[in-house]
Amino acid sequence: MKKDVKKNKLHVKKGDTVVVLAGKDKGKQGEVRRALPQDNRVVVEKVNMVKKAMRPTQANPQGGISTLEAPLHASNVMLVCPSCNKPTRIGHRVVEGKKVRVCKKCGKDID
Ligand SMILES: [Zn+2]
Repeated sequence: MKKDVKKNKLHVKKGDTVVVLAGKDKGKQGEVRRALPQDNRVVVEKVNMVKKAMRPTQANPQGGISTLEAPLHASNVMLVCPSCNKPTRIGHRVVEGKKVRVCKKCGKDID
């Protein structure tokens, strides 16, 4: 029997615009750069920036400090609806066998 791999489905995905609900970047908006459904986390543009010391490598012989975006928990972000431009909860509806995300505020399809 095939092992049933549990797949977490996030309410946001790459390319979505989200608003941050908690943490030091609360209120910031940005684009989702990466979704990490296994960890329930997302990487959002310019949000949760952390400084990281880099070891010298061939590509970067100086090493030094670089800033990069750390993943944050998906429950700390809310999708901004592309139709009404408001942070919203999403619902789902099925169109031709495919699940489509729907804005709870304006009722428009999101994907
Ligand atoms: Zn909407």
